[in-house]
Amino acid sequence: MKKTMKALNLHAVGDLRLDELPVAETQDDEVLVRVAYCGICGSDIPRVFDKGTYHFPTVIGHEFSGTVEYDPKGELTGKRVAVFPLLPCFECESCKAENYALCSNYDYYGSRRDGAMAEYISVKRWNILTLPDSVSLAAGAMCEPSAVACHAVKKLGDLTGKSLLISGAGPIGLIAAMWATNKGAEKVYFFDLDERKIKAARELGFYEYEDGIDVDVSIEGTGAGAALARCLKALKPFGQIVLMGNPSRGIELSQQEYWYILRKELRLLGTWNSSFGEIQNDWRDAISAMSERIITPEKLITHRIGINGDYMYAFEMMRDRTDFYQKVMLEVEDK
Ligand SMILES: [Zn+2]
Ligand SMILES: [Zn+2]
Repeated sequence: MKKTMKALNLHAVGDLRLDELPVAETQDDEVLVRVAYCGICGSDIPRVFDKGTYHFPTVIGHEFSGTVEYDPKGELTGKRVAVFPLLPCFECESCKAENYALCSNYDYYGSRRDGAMAEYISVKRWNILTLPDSVSLAAGAMCEPSAVACHAVKKLGDLTGKSLLISGAGPIGLIAAMWATNKGAEKVYFFDLDERKIKAARELGFYEYEDGIDVDVSIEGTGAGAALARCLKALKPFGQIVLMGNPSRGIELSQQEYWYILRKELRLLGTWNSSFGEIQNDWRDAISAMSERIITPEKLITHRIGINGDYMYAFEMMRDRTDFYQKVMLEVEDK
């Protein structure tokens, strides 16, 4: 077993370095994962260039898959795995109800503690999910966006015969559309400011939304007031909308737009992250949906960049939107 590893280590805002770091020791409640893939999440861009992490330096990366290199108990060695990146406190009210994503005192791989843009990471056994042979490691690294999409779509209940409008055709929106189609949605429409994203959505069998089309249900995936207003306008009376996009500023609605909620008696539903409990577990559901090809998140990988390669290009490209991208994946393991 190697004693040191390469890792993308954030030393300060804007200062991301490929460092050679010691491989952290594996505790009894942990296993050592040899990382195969780690997706660059949209949230990693402000983390690197703007907001930073909770302390410096921090190895970033929280959307990952790999193979268990060492398990002190021997049970998982050699298994291909995905990892839930949130470490709950297990003590707060939310944790006691298995609502771990709502934990008031959590830790997190890749932001609050070292993450997975590294050759190795020791992770808690509790956070591990094994991947069946039918799910690739690349798809496995997309469990997080898949589980988030799954969590949002579940809020809408039975979709048989329904029309769905999604604002924002990024990876989570597209995976939500795949999921919704499997749950019976008849037609899934998208709007997005980026024409290229609409083109990609159409290639996956979805439709471009045009004003005047009424829909039964909607998912707002951008966190922008104008997008929310457009979704509210499109909904039929008694329609439901899931609010999924995380706003970067306040959301404002005009009186007219607000009236859509009142006059059409719309139902607004919030969604946050994903469930990872014994009973409700979006991650488990995402993996079985991948296995059955109900969702195919790996189709959304537009860039694969080796950890030794031009990783800074990937981050800057995402920041400046110089390329069209959906999912940018770091290939950590040398192939
Ligand atoms: Zn993420
Ligand atoms: Zn908690």
